[in-house]
Amino acid sequence: MRRFQPIRDWTPGYINTCPHHLDILVRCTACGVTREFQRDKLSMAMRHALITEIEERLKCSACGAKSGKLLFGSYIGDD
Ligand SMILES: [Zn+2]
Repeated sequence: MRRFQPIRDWTPGYINTCPHHLDILVRCTACGVTREFQRDKLSMAMRHALITEIEERLKCSACGAKSGKLLFGSYIGDD
């Protein structure tokens, strides 16, 4: 079982300073859905953005709320 272990109460500040070995998840604080965040899919304009600026633009695909939160960490365990 593979599960995501977030680093508690930590963000890199800017998305471009997030170490590449870290995985990023988006959690909707409204409905609790999580999905993988793919930084490669960010627009060029957002590649050096503040984490908080990115979070402001996240929209949940399940409930439509704009209350996404980025979580930084890594997957532990086997697939
Ligand atoms: Zn949601």
